[in-house]
Order: sequence, then structure tokens, then C-alpha cells
Amino acid sequence: MSQNNIPYKIYLSEDEIPKQWYNVRADMKNKPAPLLNPATLQPMGFDDLRPVFCDELIKQELDDTTAYIDIPDEIRSFYKMYRPAPLVRAYCLEKALGTPAKIYYKFEGNNTSGSHKLNSAIVQAYYAKQQGLKGVTTETGAGQWGTALSMASAYLGIDCKVYMVKVSYEQKPFRREVMRTYGASVTPSPSMDTEIGRKINAEHPGTTGSLGCAISEAVEVATKTEGYRYVLGSVLNQVLLHQTVIGLEAKAALDKYGITPDIIIGCAGGGSNLGGLISPFMGEKLRGEKDYQIIAIEPASCPSFTRGKFAYDFCDTGMVCPLAKMYTLGSNFIPSANHAGGLRYHGMSPILSQLYHDGYMEARSVEQTAVFEAAEQFARVEGILPAPESSHAIRAAIDEALKCKETGEEKTILFGLTGTGYFDIVAYQKFNDGEMSDYIPTDEELEKSFATLPKVNI
Ligand SMILES: *Cc1c(COP(=O)(O)O)cnc(C)c1O
Repeated sequence: MSQNNIPYKIYLSEDEIPKQWYNVRADMKNKPAPLLNPATLQPMGFDDLRPVFCDELIKQELDDTTAYIDIPDEIRSFYKMYRPAPLVRAYCLEKALGTPAKIYYKFEGNNTSGSHKLNSAIVQAYYAKQQGLKGVTTETGAGQWGTALSMASAYLGIDCKVYMVKVSYEQKPFRREVMRTYGASVTPSPSMDTEIGRKINAEHPGTTGSLGCAISEAVEVATKTEGYRYVLGSVLNQVLLHQTVIGLEAKAALDKYGITPDIIIGCAGGGSNLGGLISPFMGEKLRGEKDYQIIAIEPASCPSFTRGKFAYDFCDTGMVCPLAKMYTLGSNFIPSANHAGGLRYHGMSPILSQLYHDGYMEARSVEQTAVFEAAEQFARVEGILPAPESSHAIRAAIDEALKCKETGEEKTILFGLTGTGYFDIVAYQKFNDGEMSDYIPTDEELEKSFATLPKVNI
């Protein structure tokens, strides 16, 4: 069908917000590997995970067989405040590029957290409240996840304790104040409140922290405080499940006009937006119904898929979290200090890792100056100031569209625009001032962090 009369924005009605999440694991022949207990290295079941996570979320985490899981009404009501998210036809970008390609993006930045993270935050806070808990703990890096969880916790009236990587806490006071406005307590990590925080501070005086370290602190507080559980904003199977609202809506919107994407692109940090976007399409691919080219885009400075190892690894620095089998750079890996573009986690979703390992998707890495060039180009014609993370996907979408310009192919490209960049102005400033550089870790550096991978014989 001709794609010349497609509106700029394809909206769905409220009624078309998905009523169920789609669990892509149900259609995977090779399931993602189980989480392992960090002390015994044995697979963890429901009871093992109960001190850390909420009961209902553990069930979702362990469920490899139920294809569709109902979205509770109260969560759908919350979704209605900011969903369905628009699917936008990037006519202006296509014109600026002079490409015959048709470009669509699913925009998830239309809420105060500025990203897709709210889609899972509300779910995790909801199940914590259902279980009668007092509150939740978590970590945050740049602050999108912490903000999303603060919003969800405020809405449901539960407490929210956020451990924020110290360097971000100091350099990004704006998101910190948004979180506090929503009633969350925000502590710079490593702190002196936890055993692991005190240990890390003693071993590395003056450290500005890392995500892996903040996770350890948040887990420790959750397990030692009555009525609290730990929640995580990416990587886990349950988070990817919640984020399938992105892909289900995108597919429903495209289906209305009979459009089938050839290429689907998403940025990959821990893999939750990408997994959520591609799940319904991947399901068709796994069932042999259709084929799509699916591409994960990651920073060249934190290349988990493209240069990492597929192995069991720790999810945190303090080694208190379960181990996950995933593409990883080693839990000690910290991207270079000049990396401003987000997506800095050392590991990757076990679901996406398995799918990539089995050849169902590709991955590419891009350098941050090229990412910000794409961000600028996009902002100038499409009107949205994109998050640096999202701009990794923009980079690849533009590159694919330019290939079409050369070959004359009219491919249809769908990408995830995960959020807005209003809190990333320091990074934009660096780019505008010509002070942004690219740093690609050497093989020696990666080998050093691979050497710390745990020895697991499973
Ligand atoms: C957190 C975040 C990401 C990366 O997380 P994933 O789990 O890989 O999706 C991407 N874009 C934005 C705007 C984010 O806030």
C-alpha cells in the first residue's frame, strides 16, 4: 500500500492501549538462562528471590511460557494519562535527507520523567503496593528511572528511596529536585548509610560512584528494611515485559494502515525499550510468520553486544544481586569519563542477549559525536530535542535512510525515540562547543574487566 497519505501522527484511542503485555519468552525456543544465586551459584526460584523483589514481579520474571499477561485496570488508568504514545511519520526528516525511505518513530518522551521508564515504574510500584509494602528502593544514574519511580510511587502513595550515582547527584541537580518534588528521598551513592557503601568509600576514597555500586546499596537497604523491596528499571525480564506496550501500540498503529516495517531500530542500554519495541515483531519472526531486520544500537564507549562476552556476570559491583547470563563487559567496567551519551550499563537484557546470540537480531555501535550530530539534525527538522540515548537510534535510522538514497530502495524504518534531552544540556553544550570527544576502550582494557567475570560451570 502507498505510504503517501499517512498522517504525521498515528494516534490510537484510549481503548486501544494494550490490555495485556506480550511475553516474547513464550515464543523463544532457547529461553534466557535462569538467574543464579551470587553465593551458591545455583538457579534461583520464587522463594530465593522473595527477600529482594515483589512477589508478583518474581512470577513475571520466572514465567517463560505465558504469552499474554493481563495489565491490571489501575495500571491501564495510569497509562491513559500519557498513552497511547504517538507514532510519528518523520516526513520532515525524510525530506531533509532526500531519501525514498519511509521513517517512523515511536515517541515515549511525553511525560515528566521524559522517557519510556514510566511504563515499568508504575507496574513495579503497583505490585509493591498490592503486596502491602511500605516502599521501594532503587538506583538511578542520570535520573530518568529514579524520576519515573518517584512519580509512580507518589501516585500510589508508597515511599521511594533512590540511590543516585554521586557524580550525577552533584552534576545533575535538576532531576534530583524533580524526584524530591515527587516525595522521594535521594541519596548520593556510594553513601555512608550502607555496609557496601562504607566499604566502597573506604577502598576508593573520593569515588564518584557507578550504577553497579548504587544497585548494591539499594538492594542492601531493601533487604534490611522491613516492608521494602528493590526494583530495577531495565535488564530484567519483567521490565522488558512491561515495556511491550511500546511495541504493541506501534504495531497496532502501523497495522491500521497496512504498513510493515523492514527495519526496526532501538538504542540499547540495558535493553528494555528495545526489547519492548521489538517484542511483538520478534514474536512473528520467532513463529516464522514474518521477517524483520532488527538492530540494537549501543555506544562505542560501552559496547556490551558488539564486544562483550555472553557469560554469567554480576549485575552490581557489590555482588549482592543475582547473576545473569548476558552480553557483558564485566561488572567492573566503567565507561570513560568523557562519555556523555548515557547507555552506560555493563550488561544487557538476558532475553535480548539470547536472541542476539541465536542470530535473531543485529547490533552496531556508534560514537558519541556522530550520535549528537544525528540528534542535532533530527531536532532541527522534527522539533523534538531528543535524549542522547534515543539519538543512538536516530543515528542508525538516518544511516539506513541514506543507504536507501543510494540504492533507491523504499524501505520502511521504525525506530524508538525513547525520550527528551532537556536534562542533558551539559552534554549538548559540550557538543556545541566542540569539546565532545570519542573514546573507544582498547582490547586490553576489556580483557582486564573480562578477567573479573565469575567462573560459573552451568
Ligand atoms: C534509560 C533510558 C534508555 C536506556 O535504557 P533501556 O533499558 O536500554 O531502554 C534509553 N533512552 C532513555 C531516554 C532512557 O531514559
